[in-house]
Amino acid sequence: MHIDEALRKRLIQTVAETVIAHAEDLTELDQAIGDGDHGLNMRRGFEAVLADRDKIAAQSLPKALHAVGMTLVMKVGGASGPLYGTLFMQLGKSIPDEPTLADATEALAAAFGAVKMRGKSDVGAKTMLDVIAPVLAALRDGADPRGLPALADAAAAATKPMRAVRGRASFLGDRSIGHIDPGARSTALILRAICDTLGAA
Ligand code: ADP
Ligand code: MG
Repeated sequence: MHIDEALRKRLIQTVAETVIAHAEDLTELDQAIGDGDHGLNMRRGFEAVLADRDKIAAQSLPKALHAVGMTLVMKVGGASGPLYGTLFMQLGKSIPDEPTLADATEALAAAFGAVKMRGKSDVGAKTMLDVIAPVLAALRDGADPRGLPALADAAAAATKPMRAVRGRASFLGDRSIGHIDPGARSTALILRAICDTLGAA
């Protein structure tokens, strides 16, 4: 797929605006099982990405993804800054200029592995990984990409009954049960924004 500069701009714009528009919801989720800053953290990061939209989009797809990751590492803070930063930086390192769906799948697999390593975590710990994993599995199974946003939303919702064993929410032990993980939710939002933009391209 050829993702030209105009489309790179639209991708940055849509993802950033989606995260910014949901900052309050994300903060509410983090108030229940964390310290209530996930929405603020993500908004700060994506406002910085949006401010640099044209400069980032002028670069090739791999470099643009890497630049988004660098900005997130610098601006998001918290536990999630390095994790979302790693996700995007590794996507940038692994994706070719004109990715096929198979290339994008393998780039997501590499990014998933990098986030796991960075956070010393895995699926089932009630984190963003619990959304990335089923999306990756569906892509590997050859699922229609149009079904991915709904799958990601369902995966985020499915973190509700989980007990957190990583991140700040793990401090709550059993009391983390019954709430959706904020990072799972923000990951699903980002994925939906990407799919919607590519689908409409
Ligand atoms: P902090 O926890 O420092 O307040 P945020 O509130 O911005 O940072 O982000 C919290 C989110 O980060 C969690 O909801 C979870 O999805 C994700 N997260 C935290 N720790 C890890 C980890 N070790 N591995 C993967 N994701 C994690
Ligand atoms: Mg927090």
